Amino acid sequence: MRPILIPEYLSEFNCIGGACEDTCCAGWNVTIDKKTYQAYRKVRQPEMAEKLQKYVKRDRKKNDETNYAKFILDEDKNCNMMLDDGLCSIHKELGEEFLCNTCAIYPRNLTQVGGVTEKSLTLSCPEAARVVLLREEGLGFIETEEPKNTSGLMNKVLGLEKYPYFWDLRIFTIQLMQNRQHSIEIRLIILGLFIQKIEQLKPSELEQELPITMQDYLNRLNNEEFIESLKQIKGNLNFQLNLTRVLINYRISGGDISDKYAKVLQSLIEGLDFEGNDDNEVQDMEETILKYQESYQNFYEPFMKNKEYMLENYIVNYVFKNLFPNDYNTLFESYIMLVLHFNLIKLHLVGVAAKERKLTQEMVINCVQQLAKVIEHNPAYLQGVREGMEDAGYTTMGHMFVMISN
Ligand code: SF4
Repeated sequence: MRPILIPEYLSEFNCIGGACEDTCCAGWNVTIDKKTYQAYRKVRQPEMAEKLQKYVKRDRKKNDETNYAKFILDEDKNCNMMLDDGLCSIHKELGEEFLCNTCAIYPRNLTQVGGVTEKSLTLSCPEAARVVLLREEGLGFIETEEPKNTSGLMNKVLGLEKYPYFWDLRIFTIQLMQNRQHSIEIRLIILGLFIQKIEQLKPSELEQELPITMQDYLNRLNNEEFIESLKQIKGNLNFQLNLTRVLINYRISGGDISDKYAKVLQSLIEGLDFEGNDDNEVQDMEETILKYQESYQNFYEPFMKNKEYMLENYIVNYVFKNLFPNDYNTLFESYIMLVLHFNLIKLHLVGVAAKERKLTQEMVINCVQQLAKVIEHNPAYLQGVREGMEDAGYTTMGHMFVMISN
């Protein structure tokens, strides 16, 4: 047996198979490890052997044992091994042990911190998104054990020698993000201020200063004057909506996105009146800002009054799954990426709500899941948005604050 750290929600997740509204086999390039590829070539059952021969091809571009081969998708970008009822023919005819590493583990995400394995769920699976986002009491974590030979590839391995303060920072972040005294925006801004402060410390000061600074920022949650000053930070809708423009431009320039996500994006475009040409850009933006404000006040804000825990759960799951704040080169870069994810979700929700004239928890789940699928299954998408932000010079702490604020 090996020790493993998991969120409590994990035991509640079960794949709903044929009843799934967006199976994992849709629009996703599934890679096959060498061991599974060799097992497929030895299958003797005639019908399955023929299908596997036809739809599993070596991936000679990648040339490593993890990405040894891939499934060929059909013209609708679905896996050819999927049956009409949405079930997997490999699982049904040959058994679970014939699933490749990718399919066997999905939507679970494996990481390792200081030699201890961790497992969580990725929200690109709709059922996983429901289990995680709808947990009103918030996310908790437990230590348990699992057999040493449990299958699955490690997505990330983090050594504590290189990141000795990882655990302090992770616990602080989760504690802060789960403090429901204040809005999720205020919590995110405090996290940014804390990260800014920590980045100013010299490595030799961290041991002594980190616990004091963490306590200081947690105490600030009870400092009314300080909180009031954060509430005065004004969001910049022009800036936020320009980010949406980056997204739309990326889509228009031929980004590889699924039909389901294209539908969400289309609702956003129509809901906020994003269509228009450069000649009347100023006028379009004014109209868009009005539509955004109207949707925010009438649909987003009233919905989030009672359901903000859905966004909190999203962020806490992100922090745990991605090993925040050591998931990018610097703490600040990690923070930018977290804010970018949060902001993309918020913009999509406001946009879709503007089009549908309502916001429901099903719409939130669908938006988060579709966005997660686009981002996680297609790293070029996030890369495109990130580069767009960098080109526009939108990556300072000041920009982060106006991006978070309302
Ligand atoms: S997306 Fe999730 S619920 Fe749907 S088939 Fe895949 S694992 Fe099952």
